[in-house]
Amino acid sequence: MKSGGFLRNLKLWIVIFLIISIILVYKYTMPYYNELQLHQKTKQLYAGIAGDNIDWEIIAQTEAGNTIYIKKFGDGDEITLILAALHGDEQTGFHLVYRLADTLASQPEIIRKPAVIVPVVNPDGLLARSRLNAEGIDVNRNFPTKNWSPVYEQEKYYPGSQSGSALETQVMMLLINKYKPVKIIAVHDDLHMNNFDGPAENLAWKMAETNGYEVTSDVGYPTPGSLGSYAGIEKNIAVITLELPRISPEEAWRDNFQALIDAINF
Ligand SMILES: [Zn+2]
Repeated sequence: MKSGGFLRNLKLWIVIFLIISIILVYKYTMPYYNELQLHQKTKQLYAGIAGDNIDWEIIAQTEAGNTIYIKKFGDGDEITLILAALHGDEQTGFHLVYRLADTLASQPEIIRKPAVIVPVVNPDGLLARSRLNAEGIDVNRNFPTKNWSPVYEQEKYYPGSQSGSALETQVMMLLINKYKPVKIIAVHDDLHMNNFDGPAENLAWKMAETNGYEVTSDVGYPTPGSLGSYAGIEKNIAVITLELPRISPEEAWRDNFQALIDAINF
């Protein structure tokens, strides 16, 4: 009688244990699984660029033999340069900015000012699901700024042994030099903010009107050798680091399509 009760209790506990285990495994593996699924879509989208209907210009071939594509939309002065996936593991920005280019290709009349669009600055990192380029450099810490330093705290911020040495950083410098943009928007995730450097506070507030993200000049940690330091602080170009929250490409589009159009027309 007593041992029968114990066994029944034991079975109950085993069932509870199994249910909790399944919930925990689901909770902790789903984000990983979703990320893998997103990466499949990312690889497909990237592979499709070569055959899509947008007349891309090839600006460079990377260390790993991938292509960096750019496209200019519209004519005139006051160019906005829009960059995504400087960090290859931040895939959502690539989907967002590619979709922007796709939309502008079919509806060029929605912008009144020109834009140069680069959906993936770091395709080697994007395809490898790595923040860094193929040489292990954080291309957003490699700009030749006054605050650049070869000293780094963590591998993921490796600034290179020389400033301006990464091909991807050189491409961004070349685009800034060639197009002389008055505004630059670089899309990252997942800090959930319209971060601004240089004369970009009003632009950040304009974008916040529709995306609702916090406006701030501080990401919360130092970023020597970053695009914000190079173009925003040292060249006095309005730079927005658009930090998406952790959302899907669909949600990123819903939040930011109008904000990006408004930023180009600002
Ligand atoms: Zn980033």
